[in-house]
Amino acid sequence: MFESLTEKLTGALRNLRGTGTLSEANMADALKEVRAALLSADVHFKVARDFIDRVQEQCVGQSVLKSVSPGQQVVKIIHDELVKLLGEGATELAAKRPLKVLMVGLHGSGKTTSTAKLGKLLKKKGARPFVVAGDVYRPAAIDQLEILAKQEELGFYCDRASKDVPGIGAKALESALAQNADVILFDTAGRLQIDHDLIEEVKKLKAAVQPDEVILVADGALGQEAVNVAKAFHDALTLTGLILTKLDGDTRGGAALSIKSVTGVPIKFIGTGEKTENFEIFHPDRLASRILG
Ligand code: GDP
Repeated sequence: MFESLTEKLTGALRNLRGTGTLSEANMADALKEVRAALLSADVHFKVARDFIDRVQEQCVGQSVLKSVSPGQQVVKIIHDELVKLLGEGATELAAKRPLKVLMVGLHGSGKTTSTAKLGKLLKKKGARPFVVAGDVYRPAAIDQLEILAKQEELGFYCDRASKDVPGIGAKALESALAQNADVILFDTAGRLQIDHDLIEEVKKLKAAVQPDEVILVADGALGQEAVNVAKAFHDALTLTGLILTKLDGDTRGGAALSIKSVTGVPIKFIGTGEKTENFEIFHPDRLASRILG
């Protein structure tokens, strides 16, 4: 994950790690390289600028240069700032039961797959998840969720004859509770771009089922575009969390590193492949360590 960023950052910090003494000029050079590495990973330019400013401030403030191992301290400051950027103290889903979760996002972001993946993960933790097919415009999406629900042994609801999304939501909820489900995941329709109709429909479903969590599934491979999508969805629907998908492959990392500080919404889970097991609880500290190599 984010191999190119890791490579560039380790390159930038190589000269710092081992050094006993460090000059202001060395440090400035290294931070310039760190900034370039962040920008080439498609981190939002303001996020990169503020990041470097904060690191620099601390390096000066803590008289790092005069300390015994200045290089190590700079690396530690960068690590801690990366954790903050990724969403320090990010939480999983609310512990409330029954828990109602609305899954929203653009078409192709990995919403349906992530709904099943999240169901699988929660089941493993002892929950009784139930998934609801709400993409009424694409029969294939309903089939896809049904297949995944069967495969992962999750409760499932759909109504192929209806286009009344809030009605489907209400009936699905009734059915889920009657079957003793304790986490209900509502998959919703996506479009190729955010449009008025899409948002209005999700708002109506939201009003009908009163979710505890509204989770945006965003394609992490889209970089800054994913951040813009998250901002727009958050403005319209007040998100409680994010699932960033497709962080496998050659994704550069810009979305993961910018999305929390630009939108204020924490990443809760990440998708790392097409299979249902390619899904993880998001740990900012672990990813920061991984990124620094
Ligand atoms: P939806 O339209 O948002 O419901 O998207 P889908 O769940 O149908 O996913 C679209 C495509 O992305 C499918 O081919 C999925 O297998 C793929 N996909 C979903 N999540 C991931 C991921 O984390 N990594 C990779 N590589 N592919 C993913």
